[in-house]
Amino acid sequence: MSNDVVVALDVGGTGMKCALVGRGGEVVHAERHPTLAQRGPEAVTANILDIAAGLADRARADGLDPVAAGLVVPGVIDEGNGIAVWSSNVGFRDVPLRELTQKRLGLPTALGHDVRAGGLAEARLGAGRGQRHVLFIAIGTGIAAAHVVDGKALGGAHGAAGEVGHIVVRPGGPACKCGGHGCLESIASASAVGRRYVEISGEAGVTAYDVATRAAAGEELANQIWTETVEAFADGLLTAQALYDAGIIVLGGGLAEAGEALLAPLRLALAQRVTFHRLPSIVRAKLGDTAGCLGAALLALDHLEETR
Ligand SMILES: [Zn+2]
Repeated sequence: MSNDVVVALDVGGTGMKCALVGRGGEVVHAERHPTLAQRGPEAVTANILDIAAGLADRARADGLDPVAAGLVVPGVIDEGNGIAVWSSNVGFRDVPLRELTQKRLGLPTALGHDVRAGGLAEARLGAGRGQRHVLFIAIGTGIAAAHVVDGKALGGAHGAAGEVGHIVVRPGGPACKCGGHGCLESIASASAVGRRYVEISGEAGVTAYDVATRAAAGEELANQIWTETVEAFADGLLTAQALYDAGIIVLGGGLAEAGEALLAPLRLALAQRVTFHRLPSIVRAKLGDTAGCLGAALLALDHLEETR
């Protein structure tokens, strides 16, 4: 039995999920902290380093041996050079997070992208286990994907792969925060679904999850919006499938909480659209909001393997 653990941090816009994870992917210890993004990127960076160092100290105090660290953050990440290039919700601009963490902890460190890390964990430890071609799609405030092939998440030439949320499914449609119009994300993200219902009904505080529940209960407006959501999603998935030819599509993030209320009509709508494409199976993610942190641990372990 090895005492080796890796320090894993998933840094989000509001909170950080942190853990000590063993070589088999087992979580030995977990903690959560606020990101405190409003204090600015330098404070966030200092906070990350303190928490990571604290976890390594805790591991040693518990008789464990911290051997590496994995850090995942949102935005555009230069994984090769370990730099958080750009992130709107945390405020990072070219922060050399890998080097800073490596120096502070004295441990080899990997830096990755939150959604790609989540997809990596789902592909290797969760709903995509045993599949070679996995497309993980996180549907929350935005929509982003991770294409995982043979247990590796592909980041693209510029660390910006997997932006399926910006596939244009309704040309000339609603404005998207990327500057475009009619992107999948502007129609089918959890925030877009809730916002559309609120705009039409005038009722405040309705979430995408509420819309799904009300649609299932037969409410007309909810039904109409949910149907539009599923159809936009199926259009986006058709393009994604043409590009990736996934064996399995794993849906995670807030909207996936709707479960079969989303999956069942989505499978049907995609099946109606395919021509030459082979249909992937479409399933719900298994690891919940710990996927990113587990993915950070996997990146750390992979990094150790590669540098051995
Ligand atoms: Zn967009």
